[in-house]
Amino acid sequence: SAIDTFDYVVFGATGDLTMRKLLPALYHRFRDKQIPETARVIGAARSVLSDDEYRDRADKALRRFVKPDALDEDLIHRFLGMIFYASVNGAEADSTWENMTRLFDDSVADKIRVFYLATSPELYGRICGNLAAKGLVTESARVVLEKPIGHDLDSARAINDEVGQYFVETKIFRIDHYLGKETVQNLIALRFANPVFARLWNADAIDHVQITAAETVGVEGRGDYYDHSGALRDMIQNHLLQVLCLVAMEPPGSLDADNLRNEKLKVLRALKPINAADVQHVAVRGQYGRGMVGKEIVPAYLEELGEGRQSDTETFIAIKAEVHSWRWGNVPFYLRSGKRLPNKVSEVVVQFRETPWSIFNTKLEPNRLIIRLQPEEGIQLSIMSKDPGPDGMVLRPANIDISFEKAFATRYPDAYERLLMDTVRGDPVLFMRRDEVEAAWTWVEPILKAWKEHPGTPHHYTAGSWGPDAARTLIQETGHVWHEDMK
Ligand code: NAP
Repeated sequence: SAIDTFDYVVFGATGDLTMRKLLPALYHRFRDKQIPETARVIGAARSVLSDDEYRDRADKALRRFVKPDALDEDLIHRFLGMIFYASVNGAEADSTWENMTRLFDDSVADKIRVFYLATSPELYGRICGNLAAKGLVTESARVVLEKPIGHDLDSARAINDEVGQYFVETKIFRIDHYLGKETVQNLIALRFANPVFARLWNADAIDHVQITAAETVGVEGRGDYYDHSGALRDMIQNHLLQVLCLVAMEPPGSLDADNLRNEKLKVLRALKPINAADVQHVAVRGQYGRGMVGKEIVPAYLEELGEGRQSDTETFIAIKAEVHSWRWGNVPFYLRSGKRLPNKVSEVVVQFRETPWSIFNTKLEPNRLIIRLQPEEGIQLSIMSKDPGPDGMVLRPANIDISFEKAFATRYPDAYERLLMDTVRGDPVLFMRRDEVEAAWTWVEPILKAWKEHPGTPHHYTAGSWGPDAARTLIQETGHVWHEDMK
């Protein structure tokens, strides 16, 4: 739908995220006529660049990260004309801020302005303080915070407190780009618009759930960042727990932002707390050694970090979680994420229970619903069917398989596109509220603590494998196996 004009200010404008995701997302929405030509995209970072020099970088980024069939010379030219640059040190209250404030001299106060902070999170509080001190936080201003919000519960609270001094909660948009994925939103549709699933969505019918986010890449030159983070902070605390919430939550009263977020919060608070003694039984950490991913020989994590580096940062994690609620009884939720795994895939596997009794000679495989979030968004339901062959009643599993892109014959937008426009519209439904972020940190905190107190070495796994054996053992303890035969 059409949107009033706005100013979109991105701090961290010369960084990887802006170039790879934010500028392409804004370009796409401009192309889709959702962004009026009177809007401005204002890049901000310390580097000293003219508008034209920055446009040049933006131009290169679009040509690199937008699919060729969406590139159009006239559109690119008009889009670049909407881009401006301000060289500002966000962390200091110094004179560089004049480069920003002068861009707003003639701006009307009720024009929507979004401040997107794509810098390191330690700067969020100071940038917000400076924005306020310079008079830029108007009634129609809002702030967008990239993940991670802190590196543990205390630092997350400190950031939330500090940002909260300058922006009220309804004007703070904490991004979790998983929530912008169409299929993640489709989970809500699948569960609450389809009684066939809604009625089965509980411990009576469901045996266990697996949520996986697997990458084939290593740390891609971001080793220093990653080494301070690790898979638990980078993937579980935010993305996978958000997906778990949408799988496990009760039906919200409506799709109003707070209704939905209240239900997600209840799930986070119902997660069985992990005490120090449990950590080694419910969480497995791994780190990849040298191996083969596809046809490529790839170095070990420590080699990627650089000569002589030692680290016990986990590049793989598997966790057994439980949602203590009437609906979920003792249904385990297995979460798994890692780098240098065999496939790039994010998915939710809902494993249904076995038939109570079998009248067939064939071993029956229980139904399984797979919700694929990437690479190709879709759902797959395995059902036992009769093999059409001549051998009588022989059964085998067959799949009902829907690719959303094919079913709807439409381009699947990148998650950031939807989320960026929601920040302009002021719609917080797909963003995390403060209490959610802190509840998620509260749950992972004992794992972080235990690993810090008992550094130990993460389990080794060969690059290109599905992680350490200990992850297999973790799920086998309840008689299950990880889903690994992805297409
Ligand atoms: P990056 O490539 O290191 O970029 C950091 C940006 O911040 C640069 O533009 C840098 O420009 C700017 N900056 C640093 N200090 C500044 C200051 N004092 N004032 C103004 N600008 C400053 O980092 P990134 O990968 O884009 O990530 C940015 C944030 O997004 C991080 O919080 C990261 O965790 C998060 N994130 C990144 C990704 C990703 O895929 N890259 C994904 C999810 C979340 P100057 O040096 O010119 O100031």
